[in-house]
Amino acid sequence: MKIIPCSECGKPSAVNLAYAARHLCAGCFITHFEKRFFRTVREFGMVRPRERIAVGLSGGKDSVVLLHLLSKLRKKLPFELSAITIDEGIKGYREATLKVAKKECRKLKVPLKVLTFKKDSGYSLDQMMKKTNAAACSWCGVFRRYLLNKGARELKADKIAIGHNLDDVAQTVLMNMMRNEPLRLLRFLEPLSDDAHLISRIRPLLRTPEREVAMYALLKGIEIKYSECPYAHQAFRQHVKGQLNATEEKYPGTKQRILASFIEMESLMRKGIEGQEFRISHCSACGEPTPAPRKGMEEDERSRTCMHCRMVGQLR
Ligand SMILES: [Zn+2]
Ligand SMILES: [Zn+2]
Repeated sequence: MKIIPCSECGKPSAVNLAYAARHLCAGCFITHFEKRFFRTVREFGMVRPRERIAVGLSGGKDSVVLLHLLSKLRKKLPFELSAITIDEGIKGYREATLKVAKKECRKLKVPLKVLTFKKDSGYSLDQMMKKTNAAACSWCGVFRRYLLNKGARELKADKIAIGHNLDDVAQTVLMNMMRNEPLRLLRFLEPLSDDAHLISRIRPLLRTPEREVAMYALLKGIEIKYSECPYAHQAFRQHVKGQLNATEEKYPGTKQRILASFIEMESLMRKGIEGQEFRISHCSACGEPTPAPRKGMEEDERSRTCMHCRMVGQLR
C-alpha cells in the first residue's frame, strides 16, 4: 500500500479529509480539529468571557469530546464550565455512560449535576414505556430537554452546550424540511424568544464531522462507550443518515454544504419574521417555559400546561 504524505508536514498521513482533498498525520489532524472548534466558537460568539456554560453530558463520544475541548478553551478564555447528565432510567444502558461522564468530569475538574427522570416525574423511562404505547424517543426527548433546561437554570448557566456534530445537524436540517417544520429550523441556532426561563443552546461541534470526533477521541486516548440505546428505533433519522452518508461518499462536502445553506437561509428567514412576537408562557403546573398559544387561538387548560406535565398526567 502506498503511504500518502501529510498535506501539511509530509509525514505519513493517518486521516483522509475527502471534502478538503487533504491527508493529515495525527499531529496535524489534532491541530486542524482544535482550530476549527475554537474558530466556530468565535464565529458564532458561542462563549463569551465570564459566562457560565453547562455541557449536556451524555457520556457518549460527542459530549465527552465537547467537554474536553471546552475545558481546553478555558485556558484561552476565562469562563465557568459545569456539566449536566440526564439519567433516563434505561436499565443496562445508561450505567456505563454515566460512569464515563463522572470519570471525565473528575479528570477535568468540572462539577457534574445528575438529574433523573424518576426523581422528576416519579417514573423512569423504562416505567413510562410500560404505561404508554408512545414512541420512546419522543417522550425521552421532551423530558430530556425539560430537565436539561431546568438543571441549567438551577446552575445559573447562561448557555447549554450540546454535543451535536455536523452529521447530526445536517440530518436535522433535512428531516425538518421533509417534515415541513420550518419554525423548528428557525429556532435551531438561536431561540426565537428571549424568555429568561429558556436557556439558549450552543452547538460548538456543528462544523465537525462525526467521523472526526471519533478519530480525535481515539488519537487523544479519550474513552468511548459504543453502547446503543435499546429504544433506538428512530427509523426516519436512521434512513436520512444512511442516505446522507451515501451522498457524502459520492460527493464529498455535501454535509458542509447543507449546513452552509441552512445558516444562510436561517438568517434570511429571521429577517422575514422580524418584529413578529414569539411569546412564551409559563406552565400552570410547574412554571417552566412553554410556547404560548398563537394569536387568535383559544387559551384553554391544555394550552396552559407544558408538554412535560401533560405527559406526566397521562402516566397517572
Ligand atoms: Zn502532518
Ligand atoms: Zn409543566
